[in-house]
Amino acid sequence: MLYQKETFINCPYCGESIDVLVDDSSGEQSYYEDCSVCCAPILFVLTEDESGEIQVDVRRDDE
Ligand SMILES: [Zn+2]
Repeated sequence: MLYQKETFINCPYCGESIDVLVDDSSGEQSYYEDCSVCCAPILFVLTEDESGEIQVDVRRDDE
């Protein structure tokens, strides 16, 4: 079974708001996904807060 939730993020490169599907079933993880607007590799960092909710953080690769 897949637990994917739709989340809106702002691309750290071009600033466009894009919606992505986040897999929140496997806990904390980080991975790259290309921006659908500018094709830059966005680093997605998923962290779990105290209540078990997955928080999505996006970063540039070069920061
Ligand atoms: Zn972009």
